[in-house]
Formats: sequence, C-alpha cells, structure tokens
Amino acid sequence: MTATVAAYVGLGANLGDPAQALRDALQALRSLPQTTLGAVSSFYCSAPVDAGGDDFVNAVARLDTALDARTLLQGLQAVELSFGRERPFRNAPRTLDLDLLLYGDAVIDEPGLEVPHPRMSTRAFVLLPLLELAPEVRIPGRGAARQFLSAVQGQAIRSLPPAPA
Ligand code: AMP
Repeated sequence: MTATVAAYVGLGANLGDPAQALRDALQALRSLPQTTLGAVSSFYCSAPVDAGGDDFVNAVARLDTALDARTLLQGLQAVELSFGRERPFRNAPRTLDLDLLLYGDAVIDEPGLEVPHPRMSTRAFVLLPLLELAPEVRIPGRGAARQFLSAVQGQAIRSLPPAPA
C-alpha cells in the first residue's frame, strides 16, 4: 500500500451561493486520484480579507493523499478552474479559492508552490476550521497552530449551522 500524507486544504468562496460552491468543491476533492477526503470542518462565514465583495464562506478539509505536493496543487487548481474562477483584477471576488495549507510536515518554497501556506497563520478563517479538525496541528517551521489564535481574535468570523440533511 502506498503511504499517504495528511494535507490540509483551505476552501473559500464569496460569489453566488458560496456554501453550495463549497459542498460541490468537496465533492470534486473526493474525485482527486490517489486521495481520500478524510475530514471536513464546519463552514464559517468571514468578512473579506484582501478581497472584495460579499462575506466569504470558508472551511478546511483534510485530504489523505499519495499525490506529491505539486501534483496535489495542480489538482486543486484544476478544480478551481472547473468552477469558472475568473481573475479580472487582483483580489477579485472568488467563485472558489483552494489553498494548500499544509502537506504533512513538509516545508516547500518553490516557484508557484509555498507550503506551509505563507498567510495561513494570520487568518482566522484558516486557523479556526483547521484547529477544529486538528487541535494539536503544527505549522512546520512556525510551531503549534493554536498559538496564532490570539493574534486573529479581532477578525470577524462566525461558524455556520450545519446544513440540513
Ligand atoms: P491565489 O490567487 O491566492 O489562490 O494564489 C494562487 C497562486 O499562488 C498560484 O500561482 C499558486 O501557484 C500560488 N501558490 C503558491 N503556494 C500555494 C499554496 N500553498 N496553495 C495555493 N496556491 C499557492
């Protein structure tokens, strides 16, 4: 059996029906090759940071994957594209944004691929759902994720009730 790596992916959307976009995106993540969707956080509603438009709906998913980090990111980008994400201007509203937050304990700094995600420790909409899934998770090179919580406490965010079955 191929060894798998626990990768954490941040999902965000703020166009159309963002909660539905996230549910559809999770379905698409289930279809990635050599990958299983291990866990999904609650959905959160957050005010835009570095982006325009309506509030975002955000979540974090754990993928257990045998793909290498770059192939996984390419898969995430293909899912984003299939959601018709257009970039008419910098930080435009997003149909779907997928960020590779963590790839096991890897530290990668290559053109087009930086892991841990450089801005993950300063964003409540990443830290809250991530810590819900993995309270003890560490950000390689930076330490326990939970130590960054106090610094994001001023950011507007609330968890959404679970969708009716
Ligand atoms: P964004 O518009 O914020 O989704 O950023 C997309 C760009 O960031 C692409 O060019 C990616 O190659 C690059 N990138 C670098 N590291 C990552 C990462 N860990 N997750 C997602 N995108 C990344």
